[in-house]
Amino acid sequence: THFGFKTIAEEEKEHLVRNVFSSVASKYDLMNDAMSMGVHRLWKDDFVSLLKPGSKGPIKCLDVAGGTGDIALRILDYAREKYADRETTVDIADINPEMLKEGHTRFKKTMYHNTPQVSFTEANAQGMPHIPSNTYDLYTIAFGIRNCTSVPAVLKEAHRVLKPGGTFACLEFSKMTNPALNALYDQYSFSVIPMLGTIFAGDRNSYQYLVESIRRFPVQPEFAKMISDAGFATGTMREGKGDASAWGQARDP
Ligand code: SAM
Repeated sequence: THFGFKTIAEEEKEHLVRNVFSSVASKYDLMNDAMSMGVHRLWKDDFVSLLKPGSKGPIKCLDVAGGTGDIALRILDYAREKYADRETTVDIADINPEMLKEGHTRFKKTMYHNTPQVSFTEANAQGMPHIPSNTYDLYTIAFGIRNCTSVPAVLKEAHRVLKPGGTFACLEFSKMTNPALNALYDQYSFSVIPMLGTIFAGDRNSYQYLVESIRRFPVQPEFAKMISDAGFATGTMREGKGDASAWGQARDP
């Protein structure tokens, strides 16, 4: 790879990932819009509406690698707008304090600020010892798992913190099955994304890293197997719009 991430030690990768997101934090939301031409909003809307938070009464959610709170905000809005639910809660966990700070500032402008409905905690998805086992009804991770050093460790921890019968839901980039579209995407991601990173965030390398991390992520059937291996049952995989996929898997009741 361009940066040789495959050969460096795990701690070093974690350190690099932390730096990448520290570097992009203040421009993160703007860059997401620029890179996806706004489509990431549709993927996220679609993801949350599949999960229907609040449909069975208030739930306890954990949004891991939650960053600036895009998923958390959608979960809370969905539960409130569709079901008049103001008791569903989302705890946002992220390894990067700068991303969390951006999220916190953003939530200040919402009705959830200073309520028990939302919290922000610095945590590594691979080990969250501050969270007791069997705590959450819903665990979400959006565009985050590919940045983690050990995907199996993340899945194991997700299984532990979910209540029996709880739902693991992951939104992530994946390989497109159509070779022509794949070639087009490769062209776009290797030239346009780092260029947008230079223009909007003054940081080509961080965006080059993001592109690389998408390429290295396991293909859909491989990832589905990793989820089952972590002890989850009855999985569904849904090819999303564009190149994102949503994964939902329930923990054994
Ligand atoms: N979920 C948000 C969204 O969809 O907009 C943010 C996604 S952002 C591409 C990836 C996030 O993963 C960053 O905020 C980064 O700090 C976080 N992250 C990377 N490695 C992590 C880890 N090991 N544990 C927790 N968060 C991590």
